[in-house]
Amino acid sequence: MEHAPEALGARIDAVRAQMRALGVDTLLLSLGADLPWLTGYTAMPLERLTMLILPLESEAVLIVPRLEAARVEPHPELFSIRPWAETEDPVEIVTGVVGRSRRRLAISDRTWATFLLALQANLPRSTWMTASRVTSPLRAVKDSDEVAALRRAAAAADRVATALVTGQIPLLGRSEADVSRELGRLLVDEGHDSVNFAIVASGPNAASPHHDPGARTIGAGESVVCDFGGAMDGYCSDITRTVFTGDPPTEFRDLYAVLAGAQAAAVDAARVGTRCEAVDGVARDLIADAGYGPHFIHRTGHGIGLEEHEDPYLVSGNREPLVAGHAFSVEPGIYIDGRWGARIEDIVVATDAGPDSLNRADHALAVVES
Ligand code: ZN
Ligand code: ZN
Ligand code: ZN
Repeated sequence: MEHAPEALGARIDAVRAQMRALGVDTLLLSLGADLPWLTGYTAMPLERLTMLILPLESEAVLIVPRLEAARVEPHPELFSIRPWAETEDPVEIVTGVVGRSRRRLAISDRTWATFLLALQANLPRSTWMTASRVTSPLRAVKDSDEVAALRRAAAAADRVATALVTGQIPLLGRSEADVSRELGRLLVDEGHDSVNFAIVASGPNAASPHHDPGARTIGAGESVVCDFGGAMDGYCSDITRTVFTGDPPTEFRDLYAVLAGAQAAAVDAARVGTRCEAVDGVARDLIADAGYGPHFIHRTGHGIGLEEHEDPYLVSGNREPLVAGHAFSVEPGIYIDGRWGARIEDIVVATDAGPDSLNRADHALAVVES
């Protein structure tokens, strides 16, 4: 995705306002999605330190390994770049820029402990908090360009899901791992830059929500939960569809009907002003009323954006209300140990006109014969 300096500048302004509100003097961003969201630059998860130092008042500085500096898209009006050589100590450089008088620091949640501990030793008078307290509420609300990117990624995932539910991807006699690889290839064919996961869980494995697809051969008369996603222009897709190989027994049809009803009701409940936990409650109550309560063993959804899982989480206890621009999954599941399972997942954006489901691939119980 292109990074208009005005858009990044507006984000930096919003971050500084949030820092002021929280009493944070300096924000330190290392690994994770905050850095690319704010600067357009993604740091590789190396043992070498990359860190943006964003003080409340003065200019931001990006400390970056010299060999990585060529990958930084320069935005001199937003931050200066300080490459460090292999023989320098980047922690000392950061300490010097931060200044020992700084009191309240916020640091990326994903910073290596190696660097956090060294910085804490160098800055014993500082207090620390996670950067997500500053950035998460801002990143959770997507602007129109971000929603457009999520929509493109969802449309690409929908095309793969449609191939799956219409039986264009053979399942019978193939291993889960083989089908998983094909789903990943199709995501790339449909425009994804990377594949983050492609769960294929068949038969009794379908009762494990995050099953790691393996050598098991998919047989007839099984539910197959397929949950896959990746990134396109930096923004993530995430979709789940469940198919059945052959004519499903009544017991499974009933389970699936409850699940589909709960998923649709939760999507419909995802309205601006509704608490996140209330959306979870809508799905959970319908599933529990049908007798499957103990078999819905995870939250209803997670926010999505530059990361597959980010704020807001649709989970009991999260009393935050949805606001326009929140993007999240709605993905209830029912899992019967030793037998089968089912999950349906769409990405939804809360808008002032109501919930906007980015995924449109058919939700009906898909029966595949091959
Ligand atoms: Zn998951
Ligand atoms: Zn998923
Ligand atoms: Zn998900």
